[in-house]
Amino acid sequence: MLGRYRLAPTGVNAILQGPPSVLEAFQAAFVRLLQAPPYNIPAPSVDWKLGDLRPDLPLGSQSFPDLKVQKVKEIVSYLNPPASAPLPPPPDSVPVSRLSPSEWHLLLSSPSSSTVLLDVRNLYESNIGLFCAPGAKTLRPPLRKFSDFDSGYWDSIGEQLEGKDVLMYCTGGVRCDAVLPHLAAWKRSGGEGGVRSLGLLEGGICRYLEAYGVQEGEGGEGGEGTKGEASGVQEGKGGAGGNGDSRFLGKNFVFDPRRHDPQVSSSLAAIGTCVACEAPWDDYDHGGGHQDFGETRCDKCRVLILVCATWRERQG
Ligand SMILES: [Zn+2]
Repeated sequence: MLGRYRLAPTGVNAILQGPPSVLEAFQAAFVRLLQAPPYNIPAPSVDWKLGDLRPDLPLGSQSFPDLKVQKVKEIVSYLNPPASAPLPPPPDSVPVSRLSPSEWHLLLSSPSSSTVLLDVRNLYESNIGLFCAPGAKTLRPPLRKFSDFDSGYWDSIGEQLEGKDVLMYCTGGVRCDAVLPHLAAWKRSGGEGGVRSLGLLEGGICRYLEAYGVQEGEGGEGGEGTKGEASGVQEGKGGAGGNGDSRFLGKNFVFDPRRHDPQVSSSLAAIGTCVACEAPWDDYDHGGGHQDFGETRCDKCRVLILVCATWRERQG
């Protein structure tokens, strides 16, 4: 088994790679561990997400080189500087709903005039894929990394949030849970109110695309390995099966050597644009995985940027 495993006092977030039989054995052992002392959780709710490798890349380009286990303080770090004290639970005045992919899909298909979408991922993630709803705005905080979230951000876009029904999403749901108490407690400075309601996409984009996306290169070579990500509620593959009317457009960025989840939007028109010439472009790696060193980064800040093939050739 290969991958990355983060262990925090609040839980575990891991992405693991291996043959299906090995991953299944790990899942069973993990559940048994939680059922036994000192945890004694009779029915642990582990959000397993199972995915495939990309059919367009060789195994070596999308495989972790090793298995790293890290002990960390938080599963995800939100806010810089970190909040000094734990936040109180969200006030009851802001109703919070956890939405299944089909509930989410329905809301995005006919949003009301007060609906606002909030993508809490980094900009380089939403550059290649994001949720869109007709007539509703998709807000993208200017994040390089999640801990860049600044408590002043909500005020900076206060007008777009106050009194709105905010639908929030991220890759697997973990980051939404970190943002939730902060946004629920937010009140516009100088104003009366905060958001009217909060909806979270349970299991994130990964779970949505299981139901409404398509397998990239369908009919191509299957992967030799299978990937599992422990982070939402298994609804089963191909449930609602909405192929063709996915509200997620483009590709789902992932932080593993595959770079994007092979479960993609049915429309593969590039969402992103080349930073140099603004032509449609959504491949950070120029046909490889991110271990092929084909990626382009900003010379100054090292953030991932989209540069099209034509421009790269021109620069040699
Ligand atoms: Zn270009």
